[in-house]
Amino acid sequence: MLKPGATIGILGGGQLARMLALAAAPLGLRCHVYSPEKNSCAFDVVHTGTCASYEDESALAHFAGAVDVITYEFENVPAKTAAFLARRKPVLPDPKVLETTQDRLIEKNFISGLKIATAPYASVHSATQLTEAVKAVGLPAVLKTRQLGYDGKGQAKIVKGGDAIAAWRSVKNAPAILEGFIDFEREVSVVAARAHDGTVECFEVTENEHRDHILKLSRVPAKVTPTLAREARQVATRISKAFDYVGVLAVEMFVVRKGRQRTVLVNEIAPRVHNSGHWTIDGASVSQFEQHVRAIAHWPLAKPVRLGRRVEMVNLIGNEVDDAARWLTVTGASVHIYGKGDARPGRKMGHVTRVWPE
Ligand code: AMP
Repeated sequence: MLKPGATIGILGGGQLARMLALAAAPLGLRCHVYSPEKNSCAFDVVHTGTCASYEDESALAHFAGAVDVITYEFENVPAKTAAFLARRKPVLPDPKVLETTQDRLIEKNFISGLKIATAPYASVHSATQLTEAVKAVGLPAVLKTRQLGYDGKGQAKIVKGGDAIAAWRSVKNAPAILEGFIDFEREVSVVAARAHDGTVECFEVTENEHRDHILKLSRVPAKVTPTLAREARQVATRISKAFDYVGVLAVEMFVVRKGRQRTVLVNEIAPRVHNSGHWTIDGASVSQFEQHVRAIAHWPLAKPVRLGRRVEMVNLIGNEVDDAARWLTVTGASVHIYGKGDARPGRKMGHVTRVWPE
């Protein structure tokens, strides 16, 4: 159990690390951010920062020596880096989780192994195999690279009568999976925290809208029945138990019709705090960031309570951050600007949370 004054090491220096550090401070915990990019926005808010590559063993050893526990804000932490650090200090969530979540095929097999539904999928590592996969999965479908894909990168849709080989070329012949294209009713996610003693606290089911594959809007309550909400939370809970997880994870799901009922299919697991949980900073009694800090510090989790009748989070993407001044005057709105500098198209520059009172 960490004592106030202890230091959390965070791998990665983006907005998630920044918000983790901002949540640790009121609990009396310090953060040390490790990032290869000197302009990392998390450096602005922490006690100590190390700017070095993830392969720099002397910098990593120094970092491990300076912190009490290590966590990460992104799932693509190189396996070697995680193993090197884990020999020196506790790394939470356990890096073995990364082996599953860094590879879409291993992740899908893991989820299916738990008897949790996903879109139909098949492994693809050659053009010939893609033809087989199309037969097995059907069209329309999405070809996704197994590794390093996010926000729609490394993905190609194949429509009925479409050119599968062009899709294969567009993912640059990288090992991939073909997923059936789901005609979902809505997209939801569950952000869950799991403590070292196995206690799980889920935030309520969040409804998400994407634009150009990037999350644009999250809202609670989601338009789902209590039964479906229970099912979604159970899915996230079962996944966190299967990993023996410590920290916060997010499970993204599609809501689909199944006869007269509705059910969920898991799309993706994020072994970290997640954009769809940002509403909890201003819209809940405890944020996803504080829950993560509590979990990795081996402190008790809070029981989250939503503040307000409804809460909505809007991402400020690219130059939408220029609207921040307008948002500052909106009743019930809280503005978060990440301090990232260049507002490139598609870059998450900030977000706004709106809380509608009871
Ligand atoms: P991903 O990179 O897998 O998180 O996908 C990003 C977004 O693309 C999802 O949130 C969905 O909106 C859409 N998408 C991904 N996979 C599928 C699928 N199999 N069927 C329909 N839409 C999908």
